[in-house]
Amino acid sequence: MTIISKKNIALNSKLVQLSDILQLSDIQPKDIIEENNCYHIKAIITSEFKFCNKCFSNNLSKNGTRVIMYRDIPIHNNPVGIHISFQRYQCKKCHNTIYQDSLSLDTKHLMTKRLVEYIYTKVYQRKFTELALEIGVNEKTIRNVFANNVDIQLKLLDIITPEVLGINEIHLVGNSRCVITNVEQATVIDILKTRNKAILMSYFGHIKKVENIKIVTMGMWQPHFNVISAIIPDAKIVIDKLHVVKMALEAMEKVQKNICKGLTYKERKQLKDNRYLLLTRHYQLTPMDKLTIEDLRMQYPLLGQAYLLKEGFYNIWNHPTKKEAERAYIDWCKQIPIELADYFIPIVNTVENWYKPIFNYFTNSYNNATGEALNELIKIMNRKGRCYSFEVLRSKILLIHGAHKIQALPGFNKNHGTSIQILLNLFELESTPCQL
Ligand SMILES: [Zn+2]
Repeated sequence: MTIISKKNIALNSKLVQLSDILQLSDIQPKDIIEENNCYHIKAIITSEFKFCNKCFSNNLSKNGTRVIMYRDIPIHNNPVGIHISFQRYQCKKCHNTIYQDSLSLDTKHLMTKRLVEYIYTKVYQRKFTELALEIGVNEKTIRNVFANNVDIQLKLLDIITPEVLGINEIHLVGNSRCVITNVEQATVIDILKTRNKAILMSYFGHIKKVENIKIVTMGMWQPHFNVISAIIPDAKIVIDKLHVVKMALEAMEKVQKNICKGLTYKERKQLKDNRYLLLTRHYQLTPMDKLTIEDLRMQYPLLGQAYLLKEGFYNIWNHPTKKEAERAYIDWCKQIPIELADYFIPIVNTVENWYKPIFNYFTNSYNNATGEALNELIKIMNRKGRCYSFEVLRSKILLIHGAHKIQALPGFNKNHGTSIQILLNLFELESTPCQL
């Protein structure tokens, strides 16, 4: 430990006596020095070893000391370092070397336990960098303390592995992430940092009772498919309907954009103004909107055909059985006119590539209550992502008090994860976008 200037601060005269400054039961301050707006406190540990922790002999001899700096909560908004002198003992019987220890210290992070607690309560309101500056450590230290605490809290949550698990990709805080859901319970059970294969492998490699997962719903992302096929070979993979049908929506939009190229400004504007109507499902339109669509179809026959193909593709998913859906799909393929082949044949190719998991949708009945609500939640999370780091946002969602779906059973409770609907309600109650 090096202390350059010894300008004894106004602490003693102000409000605190040196002996009281730390208020830790087993650590006694001996001196205090201010240096570059940081407080350095020299201290000793008051508890002593009476027995060897290996052979329980009481024949111990003192054998020098070792000074280690532990960070503590700020005093007068200045960082604090406690330079603690640890007594070293040697057991005369077994020659074991032991050091004094203290109930007030977190040896893993070289901090007082109360500082760890302080970080954990402040980290939701403050940025990691701000907190690091206040405490006098680097950002990585804050991140480590936070991650460690979150892991402990998450283990305590003990979330039940679902039978129907959803892997949903989202773009959050600058990166593609995976939201893991319990599809039937409409809950979030985890959020993975990236969507890459290694992260997913690690997640499913550690999940409790992975064999309980019977169905996995996902988008058409080959690495996810490969991971699930390898780790849970008995689980049935179902491609999320929303991922499939949106291909038809995108194809129709491309047709519309291409038509726009040859139009006057006024005509282009008319088409753009009606974009929302074209994207909306036909059965959801008002009679007035339906008339507008009819007009557009007459004005732009190719767009009209693309519109019908979009609607037809969506309708495949209305069929109650796999057989009927497959038949509807074949009929749909036959309706693609040569002029629209460039736009819609890629859909046929994708469906052929993912045929089995796409049509698995029709042979597995599960209650998919998550889809729409999850999309809504993702939008809100994206707004929140501007205020929080990914780690904070993840832990907020997973650990948020009162939002867990708990099923009471005789003798124990089942925790199904964070309810998407309750999360949405809680987010709605927030007055400002950056509070939770
Ligand atoms: Zn011993």
